[in-house]
Amino acid sequence: MKNKEVYRKIRKTNTWGTLIALIIFFSISMMLIAISVVGFLNYMVEAKMMAQYHAFESYARMSEDAAAKKSDQANFYKCLDKCGYEFLVLNDAGQVIHRVGADTRDSEMLDGKFGFLSQELKVFRDQDQKYLHVNDGGYINIDYGKIFAWFRTADERLEAAIEDDGYEPGGLYISGIGPSDEEGVFFSYTVEGNFDEQFTKAASELNAPLWMAVPIGETGYSFVGKSYFTVDIQEMTLFLEVAGFMIVIVVIMIFVLLGFTISGIRRQRKVVNYFFTDPVTMGHNQMYFQIKGEQMIRRSRNRTIGFAVVNLVFVNYRNYCVCHSVKQGDIILKKIYDVLRRETKSREIVAHLSSSSFALILRYDNQENLRARLEALIHQLEAVEADHRFAFQVGVSLLDVKRNDKGKALSRKRVELSSEYNNAVTARSVMADSEDSGISFFDEKIVEDRRWQDAVTERQKIAIQNEEFKVYYQPKYNPQTNELSGAEALIRWQSPDLGFVTPFKFIPIFEKNGFITEIDHYMITHVARDQKRWKDQGYKCVPVSVNVSRAHFIESDLAEQIRDLVDAENCPHDLIEIELTESAFFDDKKAMIETITRLKNYGFSVSMDDFGAGYSSLNSLKDMPLDVLKLDAEFFRGSEAGDRGQIVVAEAIRLARSLNMRTVAEGVEVRDQVDFLAAEGCDMIQGYAYAKPMEAADYEERMRTGHHDPAE
Ligand code: C2E
Ligand code: MG
Ligand code: MG
Repeated sequence: MKNKEVYRKIRKTNTWGTLIALIIFFSISMMLIAISVVGFLNYMVEAKMMAQYHAFESYARMSEDAAAKKSDQANFYKCLDKCGYEFLVLNDAGQVIHRVGADTRDSEMLDGKFGFLSQELKVFRDQDQKYLHVNDGGYINIDYGKIFAWFRTADERLEAAIEDDGYEPGGLYISGIGPSDEEGVFFSYTVEGNFDEQFTKAASELNAPLWMAVPIGETGYSFVGKSYFTVDIQEMTLFLEVAGFMIVIVVIMIFVLLGFTISGIRRQRKVVNYFFTDPVTMGHNQMYFQIKGEQMIRRSRNRTIGFAVVNLVFVNYRNYCVCHSVKQGDIILKKIYDVLRRETKSREIVAHLSSSSFALILRYDNQENLRARLEALIHQLEAVEADHRFAFQVGVSLLDVKRNDKGKALSRKRVELSSEYNNAVTARSVMADSEDSGISFFDEKIVEDRRWQDAVTERQKIAIQNEEFKVYYQPKYNPQTNELSGAEALIRWQSPDLGFVTPFKFIPIFEKNGFITEIDHYMITHVARDQKRWKDQGYKCVPVSVNVSRAHFIESDLAEQIRDLVDAENCPHDLIEIELTESAFFDDKKAMIETITRLKNYGFSVSMDDFGAGYSSLNSLKDMPLDVLKLDAEFFRGSEAGDRGQIVVAEAIRLARSLNMRTVAEGVEVRDQVDFLAAEGCDMIQGYAYAKPMEAADYEERMRTGHHDPAE
């Protein structure tokens, strides 16, 4: 889960942050440009109007003097008429007493204000009010809508003003300050000839008359001049340059930011790649498998195809590293990864998880085809290195197509890849004891086995404390005389919750989890205790063999431990025999010989159990000072063994005798075999033909009678 969060964080940061910054920056810049453009326009208009107002003020001052000297008035008006403005002089009642030009006022006297220059004025609206107007708050505003409308029609006017053939590509191009025309295209025009002239002609239309009133001293009269707002080419060019410059800056900034964003995204991709890369194979790693694999399965639209989650283990990895080097081992891992990659299809996943473990998600239609594909894959991998033969174990968990009652394939939205992979690992771990290649599919039996292992492990301690383990005795008879001549102690578990359990179901588990040591001690102690008791009670005791697991042989003082346990019960050593399994003889021969010798020195006899099962240990026989050879039950199974089987058994008995060893035939069930073994000189028979393993009380009975004929 944590990995997924980290991945999400890596994916989220950067891109979104930069994108949001980009949008904010763009909006703010555009706002600033708009404010600057409007401010600039306002300033331009107000400055022009104010220049005219100042002129009106000086005319008013001059009028004041003239008004004082009434005689000069007529003369004065004559001078004023030449000032070039259209104006009115109003008396204190607001009547026009002098006028130049038409009186085109269209309102009462209003209080007006310039917003930008904060100048308060007395104004009248004009009938031809186009671009300036006084709003309700008294502010004198530019009506940009009308200005833009002027621009929209300006090209028509210009067109009219210039020759038809006056267009020329590459001429002056004006655009950008006006809005688009109805068709959505920015207006533009190319002008040949004297542009200034043409423009001025057109721009003269862009006037904005406003009547501005200035009081003439204390006389109560006012000078009211008609002022205009006009645009000339220099101003227009300056305005275009400023706006263009700002836009260019913003565009540059946006490109820079965009560059940052793109490099951020690239960097993020690199981080994500790194996050998903396995340093050994340079392929995909566990994170990729977990995150992308789960996404792939959950999001797969095709619900009618199955997914196989696979755990593939390179069995010889550790060994190979020891014999060569970890570096060489890594090279092999890379080769394996490359083969896997090559052999998987586009919507399948391969990842290297840890040292020898690979994970795959494959698509499959039926299990047999999948098995064949995996076998071919293993085959290919086994030969990945020309002069080596490797082994690969594969555990598979199948995500089959699931359908509802109506036969519709169900979604896999809730699939937990980690638990599927865990199942694949569990399936593979079934082969953990083997060194060979193999394929194992996860199924219910594996789950049951695991549950059973859990149940056994959970209860083992309590079981031994409560003495739930019982010692059963299986007598061994001399086939010549049918006299009791020995017995083997075999464990049984009488569990209150698991019931009566045979050793095959728990001994291998104890061998794996180490509890076998305590079990063996328990058995030796109980057998020694029984033997001592029986001896004291006057039974004719025969040696009883106790199984000692091979796991025990790593302890160097095993012989002493056994001696002490037997001594603690005061049992004579010759009543105890120690059985070692054949496979134990392979681990450490020297230590084995040492232990056997010491056991014999203490007076115990030692037997080799299950001789002939699995490994051939003739060689061990040569060196081991053993007392008894127990022929494995397999020799007596099935009639096919026939004559050849009998030859082997007869020769084994002879061999043992030559080496001064006694023989015990295990698992003998039929009378013919008893007779055959008797004829061949086998010393003892331990099998159902004489007796099954039995409780101590029944065994006491056998001791009492001593003689027992084999069943017919
Ligand atoms: P093992 O030591 O080879 O024991 C002989 C097994 O063969 C016993 O199985 C016995 O019941 C069975 N057997 C004997 N005669 C016949 C026969 O005629 N027919 C058939 N079908 N079976 C016969 P069991 O008691 O189930 O024990 C199985 C194995 O579990 C033993 O094989 C031994 O390896 C292990 N084991 C049993 N008790 C102990 C113990 O106390 N400690 C250790 N370490 N291992 C034990
Ligand atoms: Mg045995
Ligand atoms: Mg045996």
